[in-house]
Amino acid sequence: MPAAQIATDPDRPILRFAPSPNGLLHLGHALSAILNHNMALAMNGSFLLRIEDIDLARCTPDYEDAIYRDLSWLGLSWEDPPRRQSEHFETYQEALGRLMDMGLVYPAFMTRGEVKAKVADSEASGATWPRDPDGSPLYPQDDRHLSDTERKRLIESGIRYSWRLDMDKALERVSDALTWREINDGAERLVPADPAAWGDVILSRSDAPSSYHLSVTVDDAAQGITHVVRGMDLYHATSVHRLLQELLGLPQPIYHHHRLILGTDGRKLSKSEGSTGLAALRDAGLGPLDIRGLLGLEG
Ligand code: GLU
Repeated sequence: MPAAQIATDPDRPILRFAPSPNGLLHLGHALSAILNHNMALAMNGSFLLRIEDIDLARCTPDYEDAIYRDLSWLGLSWEDPPRRQSEHFETYQEALGRLMDMGLVYPAFMTRGEVKAKVADSEASGATWPRDPDGSPLYPQDDRHLSDTERKRLIESGIRYSWRLDMDKALERVSDALTWREINDGAERLVPADPAAWGDVILSRSDAPSSYHLSVTVDDAAQGITHVVRGMDLYHATSVHRLLQELLGLPQPIYHHHRLILGTDGRKLSKSEGSTGLAALRDAGLGPLDIRGLLGLEG
């Protein structure tokens, strides 16, 4: 839904919960959804739902239905209709096209296996390969430097490729130091953004016409989101989103990254962890208030 279709009041806060229907929601999702919902209510704003289903291989209608069921059971309501990313691939392609026209993206041909082998080779010889904030090795820069003829030849050969942002060129386009506005306990601070830490991020995959970073940035603008409230696991990703906002001329929301709910092993919950799944807790006889209690939230 383009921003123009939402009846927005520029002063009215708009928040969103943006789950991916690739598994069942757990306590961590409940915290995020309830915080967004409560903040929207407290600010007399809107609470939107976005279904992040660009990964067509892993997202299913059943999981999407489960999201609606679990959120309704928690007592949350959102403005209909939810935005489904799979219905907006053209919008992400258009944004990618603009970055292409600016000369900031390149086709990347290395498979995951090839990247792994290259990193292993380099590390075997004692070098340290740079890693992103999530711990994944940065994409090698080889494809950045291919000639147009070579790119054309590879594309015409039919091999799979994705589109990546040339981080150095992208940063050259941004004159001022990038920051984002983070609120916590009512106080706002400016956080320095460090998109370079992510290297040449992926913007469009061979098997999905967008990436998380591109679609989330485009959608937050399209939905007029004023406050992005999400888990600390996405804190560093905000650096990339700020860069894309600057490059694409999109407004910057205010961010709040909330605490994560950890499993008994001290790690972030995953969708495969049934015992903290909302459906499992409901089946075990818990109610929405019990969930708020488990999350340390009042009433
Ligand atoms: N779809 C993302 C997730 O399920 C959240 C995206 C966001 O809040 O920015 O982790």
